[in-house]
Amino acid sequence: MSVVNDNSCGWLRGLEPRKNYKILNQNLKCDFLIIGAGYTGLSVARKLSEINSNKKIIIVDAQLAGEGSSSRNSGYLVDTTLNDGFTSNKDINNYKTKVKIYKLGISVVKNFIKQHQVDCDWNECGKYFASSIIEDRSIAKKFSEILSMLSFNNKILYKEDLKKKLGTNFYKIAVYTSGGILINPAKLVRAMIDILPLNVELFENSPLIKWKKNNSFIDCQFEKNSIKANKIIFCTNGFLKSLNIKKNFNFPLTLTASMTRPLDNEEFKSIGQPKEWGVLPIRPMGATVRFTKDRRILIRNTAEMRDPDSMSNYDLEKRKLIHLKGLIKRFPNLKNNLIEDSWSGIVSRSRNSSQIFEMLDKNIFVAGCYNGSGIGVGTLFGEQIAIMASDQQSNEIEIINKRVKPNWLPPNPILNVGVQTRLFFERLRAKSEI
Ligand SMILES: Cc1cc2nc3c(=O)[nH]c(=O)nc-3n(C[C@H](O)[C@H](O)[C@H](O)COP(=O)(O)OP(=O)(O)OC[C@H]3O[C@@H](n4cnc5c(N)ncnc54)[C@H](O)[C@@H]3O)c2cc1C
Repeated sequence: MSVVNDNSCGWLRGLEPRKNYKILNQNLKCDFLIIGAGYTGLSVARKLSEINSNKKIIIVDAQLAGEGSSSRNSGYLVDTTLNDGFTSNKDINNYKTKVKIYKLGISVVKNFIKQHQVDCDWNECGKYFASSIIEDRSIAKKFSEILSMLSFNNKILYKEDLKKKLGTNFYKIAVYTSGGILINPAKLVRAMIDILPLNVELFENSPLIKWKKNNSFIDCQFEKNSIKANKIIFCTNGFLKSLNIKKNFNFPLTLTASMTRPLDNEEFKSIGQPKEWGVLPIRPMGATVRFTKDRRILIRNTAEMRDPDSMSNYDLEKRKLIHLKGLIKRFPNLKNNLIEDSWSGIVSRSRNSSQIFEMLDKNIFVAGCYNGSGIGVGTLFGEQIAIMASDQQSNEIEIINKRVKPNWLPPNPILNVGVQTRLFFERLRAKSEI
């Protein structure tokens, strides 16, 4: 397979283009091979090198390192999520484990940026779970109660307050949680590439085509060359299924987002000069909307099941129109030609929003399937799967292993029909929120 992405991600355009990357052009052997160089794979590489300083470690990516979803996301480093299904007591316990994992994820990213002095526009400004439908008050209240029970600082806000904070009349109710951080996702992953240790060799634009386990090694075939590895760690997230990994437990979803140019002074004044903020939808298929510190508006309001490689420019333009509608709804007074960048990215989902973290077979490991919340969890899972692959244990692994495991999914075409139907109804329910 080859991974083809459009080239217009707003976060990436703000960075220096990567140069001097190496493509795999010889047959190699190594102790550890990592497939996929996003937050997960790069964190595996960093940790493996720390534990195994005299081993040969190779990391390979199908495209430029870090330029998949790790640079293309909305930049919410979350401590809590809604829409996780936590109505029964049993589910509340699951939710507790989930938020413990989020908390570990935040602290691992925090340590990383502190240790390496990373500037990724870190802002501990919290986030809003918001809706334009006042009837969603009951969902908001219930969520707020659960958050309070779990000691998460939160409060319910209504239209007038929201107008002041967000600069739009659109939202009628929101649960504001003070935990959760907004970052520039591309800056974070770029820093992970820049500090890769010397005993890690990175090859880019080198997709893994197929792999098989032999007795004492794993044989990996790339376009022209091969790598024989003693151990392999798969970190391809939305592309796990296309490599036949846990294929009945996860599936890819394509998300698209757009970002405006920075608002000028007049436009900024017209929306009340708000500080940076982030809104997540109360209804599952509603829009994620962010106002950035350099006064851009980001909107992500599509999620689809499709071939991960197939987003053409024409398809993207159609999605851009949906983003534009979402923007106009929220900011009717702004000009309607503000969008500067539109892009797509692939995430991995499981049926019950649980993550994948395990040894698949002797010497074969996988971490991924973050259900759209992989900044912190991907960084955490990367470091921890490296510990597991080095035959070591940790408290974090024990906590991760307590989570509910992903549920089985039927094969296609049943899966396709099931997911498409669910997405259709969720979209319908969230029509006003898109
Ligand atoms: C639009 C959008 C918004 C999002 N918003 C948020 C958010 O606000 N907060 C949050 O926490 N998460 C968010 N996410 C999800 C988050 O981006 C992912 O969970 C995260 O990037 C996962 O990191 P990763 O390293 O596991 O995978 P990726 O970043 O997807 O990296 C996987 C890498 O594997 C490579 N690869 C794939 N196939 C092969 C192959 N055959 N051979 C070699 N390499 C291969 C890819 O090129 C890619 O670079 C969002 C995602 C999208 C798309």
